[in-house]
Amino acid sequence: MIIFPLKKSYPHLRLEALVTRVSPTHPSYETIVSDLGKRKIGYFGEERASYFFTLLPSDTCLIFHGLRLNVDNLYFQMDVLVLTPSFILVFEVKNSTRHLHYDSKTEQFYKIETDGRKVGTYNPIEQVHNQAYLLSRWLQVKGVEQLPIDYYVVRSNPKSVLEITGSAPHITSKFISSENIPNTVRKVDARNFPIILDKKTMKKVNQKLLHSHEDLHLDLFKTYDLTHDDIHVGVICKDCGSRPMVKKRNGWLCPDCTSIDKNSWKLAVDDWFYIMNEGITAKTCQHFLQLDSRHQAKRLLAQLPLEIVGENIKTTYFRKE
Ligand SMILES: [Zn+2]
Repeated sequence: MIIFPLKKSYPHLRLEALVTRVSPTHPSYETIVSDLGKRKIGYFGEERASYFFTLLPSDTCLIFHGLRLNVDNLYFQMDVLVLTPSFILVFEVKNSTRHLHYDSKTEQFYKIETDGRKVGTYNPIEQVHNQAYLLSRWLQVKGVEQLPIDYYVVRSNPKSVLEITGSAPHITSKFISSENIPNTVRKVDARNFPIILDKKTMKKVNQKLLHSHEDLHLDLFKTYDLTHDDIHVGVICKDCGSRPMVKKRNGWLCPDCTSIDKNSWKLAVDDWFYIMNEGITAKTCQHFLQLDSRHQAKRLLAQLPLEIVGENIKTTYFRKE
């Protein structure tokens, strides 16, 4: 059963908003585009693998996509966690199109560049192994009885090949393809681990995991060396990408392509929350949506399901988590 469904991560959504509001001539623009590209590739790979997780028995397998937890002041994020009454599995999903090589003599992973150079790369098995270790620590801290935890790397791109020099069964056994996910879970299940979590405890652990998830909140301004002046204001036209759309009685008008949209301003407010990562006041909203008055902004904000803090001019609207 999918408990925490796959969705674009918070950093992914923030980059999608940011890229539409920073000038392509800004020195950090290429980095923003590249970082968003990596997020998209990762998400696409997880989407491709997600179908195979839906094939797991829904009564015994609880599935969590992208949980980010904290233990001992360390954050760790797992692409997929499968919780069962007798064991846990952690999966790291890789969507690279490039071939991955492993040299059993040097015990190193590497990729081959187009010019033939070998370039070392991190060990994806150790990455997911560390996540499994931190998860066992997290369970310990939360007072959950220890369950066996196993971990795998999913190669979600059928075009990518793992090439091994020498013999390394400890490596090959940890890499699986997406189609192999149900079979891998069945194989672990066949080891017949004793049942440790009864139904009531499963429910408790499930709730603990959900409540402990924390999105990553980066300061985009610091990360990409941006100032508030670098962020373009105005409602963006969904049809042609122009801005600012102008508020009319019957909706928002795009001066470029003349299309009219009633809801495009909501996306601009979303952009504001994603980029600024803080509450909005009627005054800032007026400026960001390029409205004539603060009262207009207030009327629009009142239409959204936002949390309201403070009164009168100090009223600040926050997105509900
Ligand atoms: Zn337009």
